[in-house]
Amino acid sequence: MRRIKWFMPVFFGLLTLLWVLAENLQLLPWSYFPIRKVLMQYSGILAMATMSIIMLLALRLKPLEKLLNGLDKSYRLHKWLGISSLVFILIHWFWTKGSKYLVNWGLLDKPGGKGRMLSSIDASSFEGLLHSLRHSAESVGEWGFYVLLLLIAIALVKKINYPIFLTTHKLMSVVYLLFVFHSLVLLKFSYWQQPIGWFVAVLIIIGCWASIQSLLGNIGQKNKVQGYVESFHFYKSNHVLNLSVGTSKQWPGHECGQFAFVTFLGQEPHPFTIASMPNSSGSVRFHIKAIGDFTDRLNASIKVGDPVTLEGPYGCFNFKSKTDHQIWVAGGIGIAAFTARMEALVNAHQTCSVDLFYCTQSPDPIFIQYISSLAKQANVKLHLWDVNKQGFLNAKQIIEKSMNWAGSDVWFCGPQSFSSALQHAFDELGLDKSKFHYELFQMR
Ligand SMILES: Cc1cc2nc3c(=O)[nH]c(=O)nc-3n(C[C@H](O)[C@H](O)[C@H](O)COP(=O)(O)OP(=O)(O)OC[C@H]3O[C@@H](n4cnc5c(N)ncnc54)[C@H](O)[C@@H]3O)c2cc1C
Repeated sequence: MRRIKWFMPVFFGLLTLLWVLAENLQLLPWSYFPIRKVLMQYSGILAMATMSIIMLLALRLKPLEKLLNGLDKSYRLHKWLGISSLVFILIHWFWTKGSKYLVNWGLLDKPGGKGRMLSSIDASSFEGLLHSLRHSAESVGEWGFYVLLLLIAIALVKKINYPIFLTTHKLMSVVYLLFVFHSLVLLKFSYWQQPIGWFVAVLIIIGCWASIQSLLGNIGQKNKVQGYVESFHFYKSNHVLNLSVGTSKQWPGHECGQFAFVTFLGQEPHPFTIASMPNSSGSVRFHIKAIGDFTDRLNASIKVGDPVTLEGPYGCFNFKSKTDHQIWVAGGIGIAAFTARMEALVNAHQTCSVDLFYCTQSPDPIFIQYISSLAKQANVKLHLWDVNKQGFLNAKQIIEKSMNWAGSDVWFCGPQSFSSALQHAFDELGLDKSKFHYELFQMR
């Protein structure tokens, strides 16, 4: 999370610096319309640059994932940038259309001059061509803005179900390409000869490439393998489906704690943590909790042999640390991230001791038996926490029960609110922020 928190101020700071260098702000007259003109350009640049990065992040590129410390963090940045771009576009819209409304309502005087005279632009030059397209570019920008507002609202209102969100979100690429046309025509021509223009041009090229990949359905294509349902078992008390997918040795392997997108025929991809350790047979196992439209139906709708596409592996929740003790905290189905690691520890020489806190609201005796036995074989100290009887687990209770917590790092997998509460509490107890590792089970 630290990396993605740094990205935004650094990125916006750099854009601002390059823009200030390109504008002669000292000579700017202190009146509404000249200020409007430069700020319209500034907000447009920020919006376009931000959207280009958003397009790139949507591609799920592995090098970027590594850089940002996991796909969940990368999607978090994608979301923050999405909200930022909305703010920039609203500001841009205000300077453009809002100012016109203010004039119409008599709140502002109409500007006297018309800016740079059209006659000074050679109509046969490239600049002249761009000038002739201004009107179309303005209309495209305005309509793109209205569609974008709708798409962002769909993305942010979580009540709108995921398949609708996914389908409509693909239209973002089309809107982005419309904004590219708008920007190429309307960005101040002199910027293209300066670092701000070069930087924006590079971002736009990257953004166009990314949006075309997205429209062609190429996202994650290289990381996909075709598999089939090998076996499955449903734990009735906790509504967890234990699904094993065979890939005929096609699966490239994974690190314990990583996840994959699982797609059944005619369904949208869903991310699930890989619950099994890497193995030579290419089988990959998942623990899937029934919590919504897709996962509720899954147990009843699949049969052995059904085709399944796996895409991955993704994620940087890999248990790599230099401490000699680790505290693992699993909130509900977050336990899936730890089962793979425990399987691996059964066979490997263990270099550090582990306390595992498994919090559950719906303990299933057979599932718990499986976790207990795995923990025992892996030499992991299991603390089963029945939330119904013991209430929510907190950081104080964790350190009371763990040996040498101060020299440990914490690995958390589970709901966002639980993660935030623990992170905050451990922070107050003096645990270095870099020692709290977590996987967000939320992408939207
Ligand atoms: C990195 C990661 C690892 C995960 N690992 C596991 C796991 O091991 N076991 C497990 O049971 N769950 C896991 N989840 C959660 C799981 O993806 C959702 O519970 C599942 O997709 C819900 O789908 P639904 O239609 O049944 O539920 P809904 O009620 O439609 O959605 C419930 C929640 O899941 C999210 N969601 C729904 N569909 C998708 C989708 N196609 N892609 C991404 N998010 C979606 C929604 O935003 C919502 O927050 C993981 C999530 C992430 C991000």
